[in-house]
Amino acid sequence: MAKIAINVATGSLQQEELIVGIDLGTTNSLIAAIHPQTGKPFVLKENDGSALVPSIIHFTEEGSMLVGEEARQQLLIKPERTIFSVKRLMGKSYADVQANGKPFAYDIIDDQKEGLVKVQMGDTFHTPIELSSHILSALKSRAEHILKTPVTKAVITVPAYFNDAQRQATRDAGKLAGLDVLRIINEPTAASLAYGMGDTTGGKEGIVAVYDLGGGTFDISILSISNGIFEVLSTNGDTYLGGDDIDNSLQDFLCQKLSIEKEALQKDKMRLQSLRILSEDIKKKLSFQDSCTENWEDIPVMVTRDEFNAVIAPLIDKTIACCAMALKDAKIQKSDLSEVVMVGGSTRIPLIKEMVGSFFGKSVHDEVNPDEVVALGAAIQAEVLSGKNKEVLLLDVTPLSLGIETAGGLMDVLIPRNSKIPGKASRQYTTQIDGQAGMRISVYQGERDLVKDNRKLASFNLSGIPGMPAGMPKVEIRFLINADGILTVKAVELRSGIEQQIEVRPQYGLSDEEVEKMLKDSLENAKEDITIRALTEARTEAEQLLKTTERFLQKNGHLLTRQELLETAEAMQALQLSITMEDKNLIQSKHEALNQISRPYAERLMDNAVSAALKGKTIDE
Ligand code: AMP
Repeated sequence: MAKIAINVATGSLQQEELIVGIDLGTTNSLIAAIHPQTGKPFVLKENDGSALVPSIIHFTEEGSMLVGEEARQQLLIKPERTIFSVKRLMGKSYADVQANGKPFAYDIIDDQKEGLVKVQMGDTFHTPIELSSHILSALKSRAEHILKTPVTKAVITVPAYFNDAQRQATRDAGKLAGLDVLRIINEPTAASLAYGMGDTTGGKEGIVAVYDLGGGTFDISILSISNGIFEVLSTNGDTYLGGDDIDNSLQDFLCQKLSIEKEALQKDKMRLQSLRILSEDIKKKLSFQDSCTENWEDIPVMVTRDEFNAVIAPLIDKTIACCAMALKDAKIQKSDLSEVVMVGGSTRIPLIKEMVGSFFGKSVHDEVNPDEVVALGAAIQAEVLSGKNKEVLLLDVTPLSLGIETAGGLMDVLIPRNSKIPGKASRQYTTQIDGQAGMRISVYQGERDLVKDNRKLASFNLSGIPGMPAGMPKVEIRFLINADGILTVKAVELRSGIEQQIEVRPQYGLSDEEVEKMLKDSLENAKEDITIRALTEARTEAEQLLKTTERFLQKNGHLLTRQELLETAEAMQALQLSITMEDKNLIQSKHEALNQISRPYAERLMDNAVSAALKGKTIDE
């Protein structure tokens, strides 16, 4: 018997509808569903038995696109046209990506308005959202091909540490791929669900550690599960530690064993790659055998598991140190833990299970395939949302996204649909015009990218902003939705403290049919919407750059040479012209061109006030 009644505002889901679970990974992605006969989750495999879709996209010179395994094969041949690890770019700023210090083979550029990155490939620009949507589209097609039915609804997993922007970016990628993302759930939560934790009919509850070592990243999450509710107590990890590092260490060891000159090897890409593949091969075999002999250029080489263990122990020690920090941050003792769950292909390594088990003082859960466990858990969550599995608690949620209007009539979502109620969110905005004294805050509900297609809930003015240059005021918009579904929207100018607020009932007068229609419209128009959004954003950013450059020239023009002034004027004209056209790539390339010219002057001369004006979103007065 279900312990708790289900109350979901999207309750109009049809019973027969299939909802898939997607593990959108850094290296590989998977898609899973609940088997209609057995009721058990299973991952969708192609005829060749492969469940993993490499999260890689290749753009051919002829203008077509390859995704997955075919793209992976291009990684070595055409690295500059092959995009991997898009997940590392989701919702990230240029500064974040630079700070990690790991170069990408492809070009990453700075998008000034929100500071979010884009990938440049020749004359085209791709946002991480668009790139992820290609991977999701490939997964969707795989599911439709195997299940022989349209697939339009999904649950997608993200790391527990993903912030709001990264979660929203993942939702948008799903929408662009034609998927209604019913819920974004944390990867460790999904893994726990796959182990039957958290269901309300006697499923395991308590505190769980989820140790996730994949190909390129390590995450440890401590979750508390109580009455079917999952709460993340702490997360820790290393975004650049995984199976690839194990391969690297083993490769160094093989170089020693085979007396291979490392520097010469580095120069010979083909030989390097083949030793790389051999290392991974030996590593995988040593998870199941005590020693392994393979040939390298016709010379047999033997590695024992003990040797391998000695090579990788320092790497595992690093992960254990992260586990200790996660326990400390969660303010719990090892003895408080009830379960330890293993996730990620690398946790097949026996020494890892042993060291993690001995650190936590518990035997670890490794019964479910560690590559598949997250996708399987996502499929279980999808089943819950479809209303078929009544054993897991569902909370009250917002049926439609809530947000405000930003420059160009765009919808900026603060509380995504399906968020738990009560809940809150806040975001900072700034002004677009020097001395702007007021700001109109318009609150909308809906899934479309332009507010004109959404439902307007209310609007109010924040007036009395003290005179400041554009970009200086910091206006924080706070959304608070209480247990009764009442939304309070508050706007506060943080420098002066002036504030204004209103209350609305987003659900008032909204029928289930209307919600359903709004969702349907948003999916049907997703591609056009995203195109208009990208174009509008490109235009707004370009206008801002033109304004800033103009202001800069007025103030500092006399410090530039005639040649510099001419070049700048030409680039400004080209950008101005591109704004009048419908091509976002053209605007972005002219934007980038003006940036390339003006950035060095700006760096040379710009004062802090103008530099601040380059940043931040704007709301039209
Ligand atoms: P994931 O990102 O979870 O797909 O993990 C992929 C990583 O798991 C890669 O580094 C693989 O080399 C590694 N891996 C897969 N199978 C094994 C195995 N049998 N033993 C050790 N590592 C493995």
